Amino acid sequence: MTTVDLEFDQLNSTVDALRRSISNRMMYGVGKDAVTAHPHDWLHAAALAVRDRLVARWMKTTRLQYEQDVKRVYYLSMEFLIGRTFTNALLALGIHDQMKEALASLGVDMDVLTELEPDAALGNGGLGRLAACFLDAMATLGIPGFGYGIRYEYGMFRQQIVNGEQVETPDYWLRAGNPWEFPRPEIQYLVHFGGRTVQRDEHVEWIDTEHVNAMAYDTVIPGYATSATNTLRLWSARATEELDLSAFNRGDYRRAVDAKNMSENVSRLLYPDDSTSAGRELRLRQEYFFVSATMQDLIRRYMRTHSTFGRFHEKVAVHLNDTHPVLAIPELMRLLVDVHHVPWERAWQSIEQMFSYTNHTLMPEALETWDVEMLARLLPRHLEIIFEINAQFLKRVGEQSGHDTEMIRRISLIDEYGQRRVRMAHLAIVASHKVNGVSKLHSQLMTRDIFADFARLFPERFTNVTNGITPRRWLAQASRPLSALIDERIGTHWRSDLFDLAKLRDLADDASFAEAFREAKRQNKIRLTQRLAQQLKVTVDPDALFDLQVKRIHEYKRQLLNVLHVIVRYNQIRAEPEKDWVPRVVMFAGKAASAYRMAKTIIRLIGDVSAKVNHDPLVGDRLKVVFVPNYGVSVAELIIPAADLSEQISTAGTEASGTGNMKLALNGALTIGTLDGANIEICDAVGRENMFIFGHTADEVDALRSAGYRPRQLYEENPELRVALDQIRTGFFSPDDPLRFADIFHTLVDWGDQYMVLADFAAFAQAQNDVDARFRDPHAWTRSAIANVAGMGQFSADRTIGEYARGIWHVKPLDMS
Ligand SMILES: *Cc1c(COP(=O)(O)O)cnc(C)c1O
Repeated sequence: MTTVDLEFDQLNSTVDALRRSISNRMMYGVGKDAVTAHPHDWLHAAALAVRDRLVARWMKTTRLQYEQDVKRVYYLSMEFLIGRTFTNALLALGIHDQMKEALASLGVDMDVLTELEPDAALGNGGLGRLAACFLDAMATLGIPGFGYGIRYEYGMFRQQIVNGEQVETPDYWLRAGNPWEFPRPEIQYLVHFGGRTVQRDEHVEWIDTEHVNAMAYDTVIPGYATSATNTLRLWSARATEELDLSAFNRGDYRRAVDAKNMSENVSRLLYPDDSTSAGRELRLRQEYFFVSATMQDLIRRYMRTHSTFGRFHEKVAVHLNDTHPVLAIPELMRLLVDVHHVPWERAWQSIEQMFSYTNHTLMPEALETWDVEMLARLLPRHLEIIFEINAQFLKRVGEQSGHDTEMIRRISLIDEYGQRRVRMAHLAIVASHKVNGVSKLHSQLMTRDIFADFARLFPERFTNVTNGITPRRWLAQASRPLSALIDERIGTHWRSDLFDLAKLRDLADDASFAEAFREAKRQNKIRLTQRLAQQLKVTVDPDALFDLQVKRIHEYKRQLLNVLHVIVRYNQIRAEPEKDWVPRVVMFAGKAASAYRMAKTIIRLIGDVSAKVNHDPLVGDRLKVVFVPNYGVSVAELIIPAADLSEQISTAGTEASGTGNMKLALNGALTIGTLDGANIEICDAVGRENMFIFGHTADEVDALRSAGYRPRQLYEENPELRVALDQIRTGFFSPDDPLRFADIFHTLVDWGDQYMVLADFAAFAQAQNDVDARFRDPHAWTRSAIANVAGMGQFSADRTIGEYARGIWHVKPLDMS
């Protein structure tokens, strides 16, 4: 086939040109005119006009990648928590104000439109949001990177609070169509399940399988202030047989579509939990579905410009975001060895050079394992390959270690205790040339505790890459008032080089800057206050201290420590209402995993405490407690810029990094936190005097655990704490159901609480008093807030991705010239 150059309209981005584009897209894309258009139609037409302006860059980036035969990074993640795209794309293209004006000239308020866009919530929390920040940073740096994942029809559930309880409703985010994606029906791969293996000649064949097609949907990922763009490719399941026609003709309509529905279930739903694997078999199918299509796709792309696998490892880096995509390893071995007939040793050598793996948790119960029997049934060939990898690995280690059988049992890919299971993290480590933790502390503990044997065997594999966040979304987009102020004082370059924020240090004593800084924060607080009044019918005073704990509800994150302090403070205010209290609004937001009973009870407790406190006339504005429902990226963008205080109070040694801590500090909130995860590095960067650090360190937590943690003693010795806990136990906050929170009491006091809430209570309460004292002095507070923003340079995802690119992936930015 000969190809001709396409001639198309070169789009510019004046207000006038945008206005015509929107009109064109309304007419020819949406099929409506200004009279019949609904607000959603305007959003769709405007989004298409923006997308049109990204496509030429996208084509150019792809063409240059092929021309320069670059090494590409494949970032594999079961989750991408993207949020909204419209404003992000406008800011990346630098056409935000023009678009606003163009829409205004058509009689449309852009701020109304942006609120109509649904979040793409294809993730649970920090892990998925990290993947989304990384896509933004890779594109901005010009790294040839592809995100690969699943196009879930239903993303993270929507959370409502009804009578104080979490109610989950499905998130059908595609209802109104998705203008940002391009369906690619010509890109489909067969994914097999079940069946059996046979040896034919030299090779193993996997036969008698059932199958489903994986179809690609591509989303453009624009880089900021560059024409480089990347691709997020998400797979959707398509049945190989649309309809069982003979069943249909017999009148058995249900059966006629059953098989289709069953196979397409694979990409139906995101599992609402990132720490334990639920719905096990379907979850395993999802993991395999996604990595199989991805490995087939990267082989196809490589083979477009190469005829042998000789340079495969020089052209491809595969990154595993946690263990969920680990089946990519046996799948790529299978494709290379069984299908492309590459010798086993050569295939394994390339895999070891191509793969890298990020660990996200130290909690042993959250490390993923799969039942050997289930794997044998669903993926028999992969299980054989895993056994073979294990046999070779253990043989090598046995020879080196003088056959230390205890150690061999510990590091084996197969857990032989009880029901045999495959340890996915072990497979990831054995196949990867680099394994990283996500903060300095986490990386240290990882090699000291859960992966100690591996760190002795492969010391050169283990490394740290501290997480980061994209300043484009989390400052430029989320806080227009603060980013405009920063632009005015130090220019706009901080968006691409966050270390530029250090220049704000010179302004720390500039009274006019401090005043403007306080005013920016105040505007963000007012915006939030108005939204709370509209949507939750709660009124709060924007001049109160806004104290935020926003993150998934989990015992290790210790929302309970925060609630206990709220209760103690409530009792203190009631005892001395006339004292000079610093007015506070304590806000919580976060979802509880559907099956996590305790987390749901914690939400209930927050609701009951809030009902009591907010309606107590003795308390008034001195203390308010608010639970903001449906935490997700858009809620985070609204709420984080309004924070004065950031609660990062996990038990030391449990939070791998945290990224919420970074977003809040970047927005000028002061952190009250433990020395855990990235809090430690934030503390080094912004100065301990600008944070409120409290509580046991990770080493002290270990020591306390070894010595024997006795919470009942703490309960008995601290009268204020005892009263608060007794109120929880006896139904003071839940008179309609006095025993509702009895389990919380017993968990904290009698059952040895593994998160040691009471051990840190006294120090936490003292730190909260220090917070009040600082807040009473607005100048001191603002100086600390500015120091926080100024110190956040190193927490840009651009720094993080730079480290991955140089130290792990060995990829270079594309030459865009
Ligand atoms: C940043 C972010 C998280 C992670 O927050 P942590 O406090 O680090 O747990 C979770 N959910 C959303 C929507 C986020 O934006």
